[in-house]
Amino acid sequence: TRGVQKPSADEPKPSLFSSAGSKNETFESLGLSRPLITALAGISIRSPTEIQSACVPQILKGRDCIGGAKTGSGKTLAFALPIVERIARDPFGIWAVVLTPTRELAYQLAEQFIAVGKPLGLETITVVGGMDMMGQAAALEKRPHIVVATPGRLCDLLRSSSGGVNKLSRAKVLVLDEADRMLTPTFAPDLAYLFSQMPADRQTCLFTATINDTILQLAEKPAQPGRPKPFMYRV
Ligand code: ADP
Ligand code: MG
Repeated sequence: TRGVQKPSADEPKPSLFSSAGSKNETFESLGLSRPLITALAGISIRSPTEIQSACVPQILKGRDCIGGAKTGSGKTLAFALPIVERIARDPFGIWAVVLTPTRELAYQLAEQFIAVGKPLGLETITVVGGMDMMGQAAALEKRPHIVVATPGRLCDLLRSSSGGVNKLSRAKVLVLDEADRMLTPTFAPDLAYLFSQMPADRQTCLFTATINDTILQLAEKPAQPGRPKPFMYRV
């Protein structure tokens, strides 16, 4: 199509948290609704970062997404906002699973999901090793909207679940945060099991500070047959 302008090389680079990017997006223009924007204002977040501007509309419409940008660029909200928005629109339809390599990262992720999701009535739980397994099992039993987990503990909980009920059978969205670290042999067996427990037509989002060859290969083809290739944003 005509009219698509290439950014010129000498255009100033927007700073990390400025909305002064070429498109001047707002959370509203990205498709987020008032209650979520109000929740963001409550934590003093008023305009999207670049990766949020790029990824929020794509994830909101159900597209698989790969996001690569350096630490501190706001990757968490780039996936948390569209996920929370979609669950709030259809509270029984989506159950998101967010996987990350460490306990500390899981708590940090959950904190951001809670900050924007709780005001909208969404339940987020954290499932990590080393903490009370019975309590986590009970929390999972209540079918929270968002499960933030390290793979090992989530596998343990699902495998030990009574009656062989697959608690992830309705999960619609899967996020691998720190995807470069997740997609290594260490996590491969646990991830294979968790993927097998989720619906085949789920939406998959990968976020990372470093795009490596494994991730580039995943960007080349649909996550599952019949889906479009993932949207990829990298800086
Ligand atoms: P990373 O890209 O390393 O995953 P995070 O998503 O953890 O970075 O974000 C880093 C910090 O930036 C967090 O404290 C988060 O609350 C803050 N942040 C995220 N998005 C915005 C925004 N749009 N405006 C201001 N601060 C933001
Ligand atoms: Mg991060």
